[in-house]
Amino acid sequence: MSVDTHPDYEGRDPLVSLEDVEVHFEESSGLFDFSEPEVVRAVDGVDLDIFEQDVVALVGESGCGKTTLGKTTIGLQRPTGGSVSYRGQDIWDAKDGKGDVEIPYKDIRSSLQIIHQDPGSSLNPNRRVMKILEAPLKRWQSQMSAGDRRGQVLSMLEEVGMTPPDDYAGRYPHQLSGGEKQRVALVRALLMDPDLILADEAVSALDVSLRVEMMDLMLDLQEKFDTSFVFVSHDLSNARYFAAHSGGRIGVMYLGELVEIGPAEKIINNPQHPYTKVLRWATPDLTPDGASSDKPPVRKIDIPDPKNPPPGCRFHTRCPEARQVCMEQTPPEYTTEEFHETKCFREDDSHEYWSSPQITDDENEADQLYSEADD
Ligand code: SF4
Repeated sequence: MSVDTHPDYEGRDPLVSLEDVEVHFEESSGLFDFSEPEVVRAVDGVDLDIFEQDVVALVGESGCGKTTLGKTTIGLQRPTGGSVSYRGQDIWDAKDGKGDVEIPYKDIRSSLQIIHQDPGSSLNPNRRVMKILEAPLKRWQSQMSAGDRRGQVLSMLEEVGMTPPDDYAGRYPHQLSGGEKQRVALVRALLMDPDLILADEAVSALDVSLRVEMMDLMLDLQEKFDTSFVFVSHDLSNARYFAAHSGGRIGVMYLGELVEIGPAEKIINNPQHPYTKVLRWATPDLTPDGASSDKPPVRKIDIPDPKNPPPGCRFHTRCPEARQVCMEQTPPEYTTEEFHETKCFREDDSHEYWSSPQITDDENEADQLYSEADD
């Protein structure tokens, strides 16, 4: 699929649908601390539809909730609020046997797969590659003969360029390079014939030269096997590469919220949310001349504590465009153009934002604005 196109999602039923999803973790301070545990709001109020043969790259700073959201999307993390459904079946109702379960949890589980950042830790060091890759087939496709199983593993190893496959099938994980381990993890996911794969920082640990190679391989296989991908990355360049080459979308996360989502090139070339502009500024290889302006488009560098996110728009403490109303009201999702949504009052020409006083970093004035917002 070309860089300029993206699938027409209109009228199609989503493969996976997240509605108003929350994932809040309680964090206790220690064994003898009897105070109320603090709550980390890792994901807050996220709506997201993922379609067949779709690609969504989630980006944001460390701690923004992108990995938690990715795991929630594939049913590895139970949400504390909202719902996650696969082809219309609530994943957690299927797991708990609640109501009329139309798609068994076993089928959902095998259709939603993951590739971790560190494949070394997810591959059993005491088992050869063949045994590692046969294990999920034995578990999920128990009717398959031993010969067919081995044949399928060898053909998939060949598919990802691990040739001769017999040689690689006989190796232990420590006899593989980082890139080869990641290919084994990819084969393990693909053997389940999944509808959706979560690639969680799957290329971040690889040398720069291997990253593009691995992303190209995943893109080839995504097209060949009609698989959807949620690609989690802290690096906007990688997210752009992966999403743009598959006609997919980039979703930008900030403090547990999805603040902007849209076709990859629109997010890169015409970002609407002030936070997306910060990410773009911080990724110099995305600017035409490879250089950023000296001044970052933020007022403060520090990220607020996710246990205590700012009221109103969560980005208001850092946003250079913030006004008083941003401290008091939470922006809804605005559709700026087809498939491009952002959570910022600036999208609404008639919003009271435009007549609201600008936030200043002068401490006295800021204190005054905060106390007015509390009233
Ligand atoms: S709503 Fe206000 S603080 Fe939030 S991103 Fe928009 S301008 Fe900035």
